Amino acid sequence: MSTSVGNGFLEPMPLVGPFPSGAPAIFIDQVARLGSEAGIISAVGDDDFGWLNIERLKRDGADVSAIAVLAEAPTGSAFVRYRADGARDFVFNIARSASGQIEMTDAARALIARAGHVHVMGSAFAIGGIGRVLSEAVASVKARGGTVSFDPNVRKELLAGQGEARARFEEILAVSDLLLPSGEELSVTAGIDEEKAAVQSLLSRGVKEVVLKRGAAGSSFYLQNDRGHCPAFKVEELDPTGAGDCFGATYVTCRRKGLSPASSLRYANAAGARTVTRQGPMEGVSTFAELDQFIEEHRLET
Ligand code: ATP
Ligand code: MG
Repeated sequence: MSTSVGNGFLEPMPLVGPFPSGAPAIFIDQVARLGSEAGIISAVGDDDFGWLNIERLKRDGADVSAIAVLAEAPTGSAFVRYRADGARDFVFNIARSASGQIEMTDAARALIARAGHVHVMGSAFAIGGIGRVLSEAVASVKARGGTVSFDPNVRKELLAGQGEARARFEEILAVSDLLLPSGEELSVTAGIDEEKAAVQSLLSRGVKEVVLKRGAAGSSFYLQNDRGHCPAFKVEELDPTGAGDCFGATYVTCRRKGLSPASSLRYANAAGARTVTRQGPMEGVSTFAELDQFIEEHRLET
């Protein structure tokens, strides 16, 4: 992460890092910090960036058995610099890194066999070999009566037309119990612009629960017979990276524990708000004790 504000990386500048990162890794780390059993299917290179991620996930209690360590590829990395208007410029090294080579392994199969729920990140569709992994994971978990959640954090350009990514996207959407879109992802997912109609369309297509992430405006949940909104906690945003992932991980974990949608949404809002106050994508993950304390401290301000 650049410590200076400006446009891109076209000259030398001070950087801070490396930070463990990646949307799926942030998500699973947050689930683990909440004390739930969770694992990730991924790949890193046999280098410090890879071990940094593995060690952090392991320390926080995540199952890292299905992270392949590849001898021939570097760990995926990203460099980010904020512009004056809050937008971000990235340099990505993902597609040709180890994470671009994620595939089904014996270790992944063993992890899937132990799972009662699978969470799919739309960003994964950018990886060529991911389709088989997702199909197998979803089929296996569903066959055991398990559930699927889906964060369609995917660029609409990637879904344009009728290509492989769109087909994959529709396949996961068709089996999703819980959907967690933010911003324009709702209309892209539903194929309908207007919010109410888009949500209704998804619920009538078999999605049981739609949760909308609204950044500093909070979040809302929609079930066939229930709905609710939770305003955002008031915090000073230092680094928005990871908010959606910590939010989603917390919501899914709370629902899996049997908490109500409203109570799950409050915890998720707290997790999202808490993480934007820390620099570094995975540095703001929370335990339940930290969330309870955060909610208590911000009670009067919401
Ligand atoms: P990402 O940018 O990581 O992809 P997202 O767009 O998926 O995130 P957001 O809506 O930005 O998701 O954030 C998720 C949740 O985190 C919000 O619904 C909100 O509850 C909380 N949150 C995010 N930003 C802020 C903020 N500035 N202040 C308070 N809460 C926030
Ligand atoms: Mg956002």
